[in-house]
Amino acid sequence: MDKFEDVDYWKGIVLYGLNQATYKIALGKTILELASQDKEAVEWDHLSKIYLDNYIERLKTNYNPQQSNPSRKTKMERIIDSLNKGLIDFERAVYSVGTEAFNDVVPRFQTIGTDKDIVGEKFYHFDFGKKLYLHDATFQINETSKQELTDELDARWSLLEGAFSLAHGDFKLSNDVRDVYLANSYTRTNITGNIPFLQGYQGNTCFYCGERIGDKDVHVDHVLPRQFIQHDEIWNLVLSHSICNMNKNDALIGKHYFEKLVARNENIMGSNHPWKKKIADALGDNPIKRNKSMLYHYDNAKIVLKNNYWENSPHYNRETDPFFKRLITKLNNR
Ligand SMILES: [Zn+2]
Repeated sequence: MDKFEDVDYWKGIVLYGLNQATYKIALGKTILELASQDKEAVEWDHLSKIYLDNYIERLKTNYNPQQSNPSRKTKMERIIDSLNKGLIDFERAVYSVGTEAFNDVVPRFQTIGTDKDIVGEKFYHFDFGKKLYLHDATFQINETSKQELTDELDARWSLLEGAFSLAHGDFKLSNDVRDVYLANSYTRTNITGNIPFLQGYQGNTCFYCGERIGDKDVHVDHVLPRQFIQHDEIWNLVLSHSICNMNKNDALIGKHYFEKLVARNENIMGSNHPWKKKIADALGDNPIKRNKSMLYHYDNAKIVLKNNYWENSPHYNRETDPFFKRLITKLNNR
């Protein structure tokens, strides 16, 4: 086998392999910076801080998408959005980076393509959540080629952002929309408690395919994806099979499902259940207002989710969907 220099391995890491996000590039920059600080054993908090600083700097001047799927944002973007909105402070942001953003990138960084054996632990090893230990090879390449490697990382970062931008469309507009939802966001609540309530208004059938759901397979799903809507309000929750839930994933649903959700919510409003007040508060106190509010959210979801669209479950047919045949649906949606 040919003899390669340490710097060749480093370049292999940075330049090859499919990157679905920019995590690896940011970690490369972080590691070189730590080497310049002459740190051999790096506290996890310090690692997190330098990594966060890299993203803050990057997103400050020209904010481009940091991963390929247009309906999602990276953990790092979400942390920085929360920080910018004043929802968390800097210390909390550093903590979130250390506990939530490193799960993939720190263990996988030293990989060329999909092969972990080529590089091994040439540049560092780590004790997850505690310390990262830089190895001699890292100090050596930083000493001889720092500028070149930093430039290469920056170029690679731009290249990825450019590729991701193509899939994202109008990223600026979509960020503005997301910001509105983020401002009213709250952390995930336990939504399985809503199952009996939802069963009452939906029957024991899956919202997406219309077929019966077995007791062990009931899933509560956010019709407009949680990642976008940022809340667990009842008007946006339905029951589905786990498989239908998975197929839909975090995509934008077809208009017919939107209409079905409107009708389902009117069923709740037509009842005397105390939770109908929650829906009236969130969407409006008459059917026209509620329809308008929901359309507003659906249109916003279109802007953010774009071409990540899911028409419907393969077997779904509105004409035969038992939901629309129920008396309660007919009565409440005249
Ligand atoms: Zn289903």
